[in-house]
Amino acid sequence: MGSIQYLKGIGPARAKSLARLDIFSIADLLHYYPRTYQDRRENPPNSGLNPPSLVIFKGRVLRAQTIPARSVLIFKAFLSDTQNRQIECTWFKKRSFRNFRFDPFAQLKKDFKINTEVWVIGRRENRNNFFDNKITVEEYYPVSDPQSAWHAGRLTPIYSLTEGLTHKQMRQYMQEALAGGQSEAEPDILPSFLADKRHFLGSTQALRAIHFPTSLAELENARARLAYEEFLLLATAWGIKRSQTKTIAKGYHYQIKKNLLSPFRKNLGFEFTGSQKKVINEIFADLQSPLPMNRLLQGDVGSGKTLVALSAMLLAAENGYQSVLMAPTEILAEQHYMTFQRILKKLKVPVAVLTSSTKTAERKKILAALADGSLTIIVGTHALIQDDVQFKNLKLAVIDEQHRFGVRQRGKLKEKTSRLDLLTMTATPIPRTLALVLYGDLAVSTLTELPPGRRPIFTQMADEPQACRIVAEEIQKGRQAYIVYPLIEESEKISAKAVSEEFEKLKKFFPQFQLAMLHGQMSRTEKENVMKDFAAHKTDILVATPVIEVGIDVPNATVMVIQNAERFGLASLHQLRGRVGRGQHESRCILVAQHQGSVSKERLRIICDTCDGFKIGEKDMQLRGPGEILGTRQSGELELKAGDLFKDRNILQWAIEDRDELLRQDPLLQNPQHAAFKKRLLELYQQNWHLIDLS
Ligand code: ADP
Ligand code: MG
Repeated sequence: MGSIQYLKGIGPARAKSLARLDIFSIADLLHYYPRTYQDRRENPPNSGLNPPSLVIFKGRVLRAQTIPARSVLIFKAFLSDTQNRQIECTWFKKRSFRNFRFDPFAQLKKDFKINTEVWVIGRRENRNNFFDNKITVEEYYPVSDPQSAWHAGRLTPIYSLTEGLTHKQMRQYMQEALAGGQSEAEPDILPSFLADKRHFLGSTQALRAIHFPTSLAELENARARLAYEEFLLLATAWGIKRSQTKTIAKGYHYQIKKNLLSPFRKNLGFEFTGSQKKVINEIFADLQSPLPMNRLLQGDVGSGKTLVALSAMLLAAENGYQSVLMAPTEILAEQHYMTFQRILKKLKVPVAVLTSSTKTAERKKILAALADGSLTIIVGTHALIQDDVQFKNLKLAVIDEQHRFGVRQRGKLKEKTSRLDLLTMTATPIPRTLALVLYGDLAVSTLTELPPGRRPIFTQMADEPQACRIVAEEIQKGRQAYIVYPLIEESEKISAKAVSEEFEKLKKFFPQFQLAMLHGQMSRTEKENVMKDFAAHKTDILVATPVIEVGIDVPNATVMVIQNAERFGLASLHQLRGRVGRGQHESRCILVAQHQGSVSKERLRIICDTCDGFKIGEKDMQLRGPGEILGTRQSGELELKAGDLFKDRNILQWAIEDRDELLRQDPLLQNPQHAAFKKRLLELYQQNWHLIDLS
């Protein structure tokens, strides 16, 4: 593949800038699509179009002159446009008293010689006057320069840039890449029978059009083609993975002995819900099957997923197998550990927790116990997938709140052992087609009911004094409360400071109550102690950052106050609210919002209206797009460049259909006609997925 440095005008410095955008090859460059487009088609000043829009026209210079003024220098050029209307263009420059000889208009004088043709882009001096012919110029391009056609008189691409790059350069590089034997660098990878079936633009055409579209219709066609290609590659990768896992027997089996499961259920103190029983049966059937399990368990916040997971892990333990539960945050891992410890102590099943703040000595001990098999169940964060973590006989992995992990992390856990049963759990349900394309042939179980006695959480907007009053009332009744502040600029460090300040204020405001604080910058023991104290009702109010968002479980807490609620996404609001309403008492969630835009207003309205996580998930998808929800945008693995999983559902559907047809014809992509497609598939997915063994 052509390295980007072979392109004209790109030296080591530029290449470094481009690398920051993940552009290393010419193909990478061509697949770096514009962030948006500016409509720079001809739009002369007196065309009667909206005054604030850009004025763009091609004109012939009639005359040009410098006009001396007191503090500024003015350059004026009078041009006649293609319809012989006269347009006055103006440039202002501050007069420099230090350097009288310097002529700031030297270049302009050269470029605006009489009779030269120039593309001019600017704004009306008087923006409210439709027919004003006076323009302040922003950019211009002499028509004699062939490059002018890339920047003016067309739909012009706007890229996400990085330091050391300009739009002009990016357009120039794109043109170079598109011109320079692009078909070699970038052959059409689409299997020809699919290209014929779907009638998309050819790849060369589509790439040219996505960067330099000649019309909006052409742009849309190009985007559809590239989205389809992207979906098809992704779906095919999963399809191959699916067929490979399906044909590989795991080579071990489970027997339901009940020596742990029976006492576990007896000690619980409540019955499993019908939903839980059904789901546990589905999981046990998977575990007993000769093929590895790959199941998604979805269930709303509070539906009792943890105990379902533990049931499966106990079945593994009954058979002498190790199992892991991986959580996205340390606090959640600690919480699971506390729950597990309480239950497993009585059953004499050894359990430990491993996170990045586990002390070295303890970590060593845990790693040794995992390796010699004396530790049966391990709970933790991504610290579990470090290279030096080795298991004796790991057979089952449970991933909690899976939407917060990237695909790469999931892949890594699978590497730990040759065969593995995998259960992923989420409170953010995703539509079936998305699940299919994203996770291959994933079996899905759904918890459709909440444990008995749960009541909907009354949710309302309130101002701060009102919120404080409600908190005080509840605490006087013997309940507990959370007050949550948003993450500031995605940084736990700054947020911790902000929360500490609010904490001091609240302590003065509630002198009669016990307050505690929780944020991501605290040490593990500190966090653990704060949580233990809150669970034991030694404290009344827990002031926290969204670190408590997932999984925290204290049934006596009945009020959740969310400060700056407008800054949270729907899924986060729902998760936070799910921290209350876990016991027999009526619970409430109070949203304190400051400035609200229309989207945040809509979010808050939805959250006040419904407690149904599935409905909320759907709305969220509409408001934000699924990429963000699935956490794929951050993880970068499934970052879609052209396609939008929600908007392009139809194209996605085609891609899935076509993937099935392709793999039916050529399961391992051995047909030489599919070589280009396969090559690209491997470039994109083999490295991180470790699972596609096609070579
Ligand atoms: P989530 O699905 O959000 O992970 P959890 O597993 O944290 O939910 O469960 C929420 C709470 O419900 C926990 O306190 C758990 O002990 C309790 N719980 C789970 N199953 C039942 C049940 N069948 N009956 C009563 N309470 C249950
Ligand atoms: Mg949970």
